[in-house]
Order: sequence, then C-alpha cells, then structure tokens
Amino acid sequence: MAVTADFREQVRRMAIEAGAVAAGFARAGAVAEADASRFNAYLSAGGHFSMRYMENYREIRLNPLRLFTPAAEAATVISMAFPYYHPGANPLFARYAQGEDYHKVLRRRLRPLARYISENSGGARCRICTDTAPILERYWAVAAGVGFIGRNHCLIVPGAGSFCFLAEIVTEAQFEPDAPSLLGCGDCGACKRGCPGGALEAQCGFDSGKCLSCLTIEHRGAWPDDAPGLPGPAIYGCDLCQQRCPHNAAPAPGLPEFAPSAAMRSLTTDSLAALDASGYESLFASSAVTRCPAEQLRRNAEKLKNNNN
Ligand code: SF4
Ligand code: SF4
Repeated sequence: MAVTADFREQVRRMAIEAGAVAAGFARAGAVAEADASRFNAYLSAGGHFSMRYMENYREIRLNPLRLFTPAAEAATVISMAFPYYHPGANPLFARYAQGEDYHKVLRRRLRPLARYISENSGGARCRICTDTAPILERYWAVAAGVGFIGRNHCLIVPGAGSFCFLAEIVTEAQFEPDAPSLLGCGDCGACKRGCPGGALEAQCGFDSGKCLSCLTIEHRGAWPDDAPGLPGPAIYGCDLCQQRCPHNAAPAPGLPEFAPSAAMRSLTTDSLAALDASGYESLFASSAVTRCPAEQLRRNAEKLKNNNN
C-alpha cells in the first residue's frame, strides 16, 4: 500500500528519535545488474575468504522482496545508520564490539517503529534487519541516500562518519524513495595506504583473507601461513582504515548502549591470553564479541604477543 508524504516524514522522524543519524527510503527490488555482477564476481574470486555464509541465500541477497514468504510484490527498504563511537575505547577491540550487542540493541530500538508502520499501513508486513538477514546493507544505504561506500568498503554518512551500524526495516508499505547518494572518496586513498594487510589492493576490490578484521573475528582454526601478521593494536577486529578516514575526524557520538564497559576497558593482551570459559562468558555474554570463540581470542592474543616479541 502506498503511504502519504506526511507519513513518510513521520517515519523518518521516528527513526531519528530511535537513535539514527540518517534514515532514507529506497524502492525494494532486484539489485542493479552491475552491482549483482560485482557481488557474484567477488564471491567467485574468493574475496570473502572464510565468510562462506555470504554464498548462502544469494537469491534473497540480490532481491529483498524475497525476505518475505511468500515474496512481497512491492516493498520499501528503510535504511538507517546508528552511531557507536565512544572515546576511551580499549584499543584491543574494534570499537563496534565494546558495548552491548548491536543486534539486540537496534532491534529493541526499531521494534516500535516497525509496529507503527504496520499498524498505519493496513497491516503491511515489516522485517527488521540488524545484520541478521541476507541483505546488501550498504547497497541499500546508498540507494536510500543515507551515505556512500568509501574505498575502505565502509558506509560513510556525510557529517557523521563511518562508525555507524546499518539497520533496515523492509516493509510492504510503499514509501516514495529518496534520491540515491552520488558522493564518493575523490582522490583520497588514506585508508588504502594505511591498511596493514593490503586488503584494499585486491583485484576483486577487497581481499578478506588479508583483512585483520576477518582474520581475527571470522577465521576459525590456525592463523593462515600466507596471511599478514597481527601488528596491533587490536586482537579483535581492526579500525585502522576507519581511523584514517577524514570523514571520521569528528564522528557522531555513539548511542549510550555502545559505550565500552569498565571491564572491557581494563582487558589486556595477557588477561585475554589467559581467559578461561567462565571468564569469557561473564565478560562477553551480552556483547557481539561472542562472534569470536574464546579459543580464537586466545589465539589472537598469543599472535599479537609473539609479533611484539
Ligand atoms: S579493517 Fe584493517 S586490515 Fe581490514 S581493510 Fe581496514 S585497515 Fe585493512
Ligand atoms: S580514507 Fe579516504 S579513500 Fe578511504 S574511505 Fe575515507 S575518504 Fe575514502
């Protein structure tokens, strides 16, 4: 069902009240052919490395109308960016993982909005995606005018930077789309020069096998022989290409749930290398760090210690 312009602006206001720094609307449907080909070529070239899950649900990934069963005939992707930057983070961890688990926080914040949309659009189905559904999040953020994809492959929100989580409500309610973002990086390249693994030099655009974020969080088992070392400062994730980006000179302040806890701030390489199962559980139970099993955190901590010796 088509909705009015007033309703659209009310939904945008509510998204901002829910904590988003930017929110926009895009007409859902098949991903543009050039982008779908690029995605398929990326997978064929193995750019996703250990992240084999990216091969799953490809037909849904390339057309979010199929997120619904049965598939929607028409829908809107409401794309939103939620800031997580807090000063005083522990440099051993990527900033995004230092507070409460973003999957849960964002779903909690977006539930009332999805309910409001459904109740005021004749019961339109809504699906909240908080990095929990096969959807090309950055593609839809660009299409909805929320920001542009930087050379570091992060979504950059003009005026707010890239230390933001993306989330979407895909809804059968039909909103007038926003204009897509046409911005880009220009001739900067600071992230590429500063990437310790050379992940941004790859032919396919991004080599996850050389990215410390993928290697420390997603790659199970032993550290691959041909992978870059772990130069630090982090053992979980890597923020270097975001830190170097001029768009992050004054990042939007993060939502309170994403502030690093005192326990997180006090962790050291030695305490992590010695972490046992109960310590891991009590420290990270409500955090996104559980994406990385305890033995892998220990592997990373040992790797960093060895590199520094
Ligand atoms: S996260 Fe780190 S290793 Fe990965 S591309 Fe960015 S700078 Fe390179
Ligand atoms: S550092 Fe420069 S090239 Fe890299 S994403 Fe930021 S603006 Fe783009």
